Amino acid sequence: MGKLTLYGKAPLLHAVDAMRQSGRFVHSFIITGEKGTGKKTAALYITMSLLCEKGTACGECRECRRIVSDSHPDLRIVEKAKKTYSVEDVRTVVSDSIISPNDCERKVYLFTDCDGWSDAAQNALLKAVEDPPDPVYFIFTGIKAASFLGTLVSRSMVLNINPAGHEECMAALRERFPDRDGAELERVSKALGGNIGSCVEYLEGSEELMERVELVRRISACAAQGDEYTVSALLNSVSSDRTAFEECVDMFGTVIRDAVSLSLGRTELLGCDEEGAKKLSAFDVQGLVNIYDACTAAADSCAQNCNTPAAAGLLASRIVRSLRF
Ligand SMILES: [Zn+2]
Repeated sequence: MGKLTLYGKAPLLHAVDAMRQSGRFVHSFIITGEKGTGKKTAALYITMSLLCEKGTACGECRECRRIVSDSHPDLRIVEKAKKTYSVEDVRTVVSDSIISPNDCERKVYLFTDCDGWSDAAQNALLKAVEDPPDPVYFIFTGIKAASFLGTLVSRSMVLNINPAGHEECMAALRERFPDRDGAELERVSKALGGNIGSCVEYLEGSEELMERVELVRRISACAAQGDEYTVSALLNSVSSDRTAFEECVDMFGTVIRDAVSLSLGRTELLGCDEEGAKKLSAFDVQGLVNIYDACTAAADSCAQNCNTPAAAGLLASRIVRSLRF
């Protein structure tokens, strides 16, 4: 394991490198970005910047290597007892944070996929984030900045990661899969909107992912025809598997965002269904924005353990009604 490859993260690297060079780091980072954009990789880079023996995030020293292989005692990836962080999970960290680091002069607590965590859990952390013990640093990752309380955001540096885009995605895929056919990589990158994480997942053998892409395409096509019954049936077909449902909703939301971009004259698309986005872009922008909000609401209610089939039905009706047939 050598250096981390950080595609699509130039602004983040710039901010972190500037702090490293000045020797002054903020104590709390919030990293936001869609699934598969490499939020955890970015978090590991920040951790390397904090703990590296040479102070350069070299990727080669003992500390850096242990960070990348998830075996550094001063990087604690905080576990969730349930689906989202609870007040108890947070309290364990707060009481652990007053203990000195093991091997380094600093230690890092990494909270991953924070979307959907409660205000109470975040409030339990506030004091520690506001006035942390000297050696302690916090990193939070989540899809949206809105997943974090304003009070937490104001005490943190928020770093957003944009999807890498097709070109950078291709560069990453060529490096990761040097033996694969270039045309195949090209096809996968296009189908998955240049999302490196999703492409790697697919190329490593996830048929599930391609099935989801297919499902999302069918949902877009039926939505564009105002076929609420089939949209509902398609969403329902994955609603017994919460993760699959959430992923499909997320992917469909990206297609909707592409449709909005197209109708505003932009051409850079991120979703898995260019054709569907084109069809949907013919509809009223406000309606599309409403659908995007409905997708976000459905994903949020999933994170809070809602009844998924009910969420699927509600989402289907909001999708078709927002398009105003
Ligand atoms: Zn190092």
